[in-house]
Amino acid sequence: MTLYVYNTLTGNKERFEPLKAPAVNMFCCGPTVQDLMHIGHARTYIFYDILSRYLERIGFRVNFIMNVTDIDESLVDASDDTNMSLPDFVNRQISNYLEDFGVLRIKSVNSFIKVSNYVNEMIEQTSILLKKGYAYTSDGIIYFDTNRSKHFGELSHESRSRLRLRPVELAEGKKDLLDFALWRRAPREELAYESPWGSGWPGWHIQDTAVTISMFGAQYDIHGGAYELIYPHHEAEIAQAEAITGIRPFVKYWIHCGLVKIDGKKMSKSEGNIIYARNAARKYGVDSLRLYMMSGRYRDDMNYKEDQLAMVKEEYERMVDIISPYDEKKSDASTVSKLLQLFYGFLDNDMDIYGSASMIRKIFTTETAFGIPYTKNDMKRFLSEVSSVLGVDLVGSGRV
Ligand SMILES: [Zn+2]
Repeated sequence: MTLYVYNTLTGNKERFEPLKAPAVNMFCCGPTVQDLMHIGHARTYIFYDILSRYLERIGFRVNFIMNVTDIDESLVDASDDTNMSLPDFVNRQISNYLEDFGVLRIKSVNSFIKVSNYVNEMIEQTSILLKKGYAYTSDGIIYFDTNRSKHFGELSHESRSRLRLRPVELAEGKKDLLDFALWRRAPREELAYESPWGSGWPGWHIQDTAVTISMFGAQYDIHGGAYELIYPHHEAEIAQAEAITGIRPFVKYWIHCGLVKIDGKKMSKSEGNIIYARNAARKYGVDSLRLYMMSGRYRDDMNYKEDQLAMVKEEYERMVDIISPYDEKKSDASTVSKLLQLFYGFLDNDMDIYGSASMIRKIFTTETAFGIPYTKNDMKRFLSEVSSVLGVDLVGSGRV
């Protein structure tokens, strides 16, 4: 089995070869915890969970870390709306998130890291960038000087002039519109951290490189997140990290996934169309929800429709009803292995979760799908093998 993944950095589908096989270091941008997890986040985290489970299945040893952003203006505003202090609010929100990760069976994340535990590393990285001439101070704010970064724009595949058309932080003191803050003012003095440049807050992008360079070193294998983070967030991470370490590429494979839209619109508070993951999982079950998240290619946007999720739930229950009376011990090993090869073939092709879910549906409709004759016992064995990769209990065993 050879996995190929689409790498945003090169724009190509590439054979997956980690830096130090069988170890795979993987990082995915985690949540800013101002609100409960919505189904857009859930889709992202479920996808990287399946990716990590599959990498483990094909023999890699994955160290999957995710950050939790607890330094952000949105958290200050959200905690103001409650009667809680910022730290109490953040801790409550993180425990809600961890509960939702449990509900959604996102089991592959080895550590969730609160970025506020890495402020010293952010200060250290900012100092290095200043010392190396990659950063400058203006009006009490420290900016990264993107003109010093030869490869800036490589992840977005855009020129500097095209990037200038994208929305970025506006500020008076920047030398270039594309420059971004490494250290800035805190929204309130009591929330500020001490630094050699006075008290303040770290910028957004350095929060990630502080965690990943500390955990993985100068290079690692996979960086995930939704594609809307490519610019400026991920572009800025590359610029910072490569300037700090002098080593390229910072990340070997950039794997981005699509967004979830509701009736074609982005989910947002102002639209009033947010669907929380815990509510969807409670109503339709986590198996149906995870299966529904596989109804398209991971890189494409998904249009969430509740009636479709309801149909997937019916379909899922029907499949489990059909298969549960059979006995996987009576299966034929070579037939099961052929079915598994086919299934893994889909995932090897840039994690084609849609193809793999379609295969599962198809084997229920005919007993000679894909030219391989099989019995219901064979099917049950096959489905219990793939259940643990997808995190969907396809045989009603209660073990995934
Ligand atoms: Zn991030």
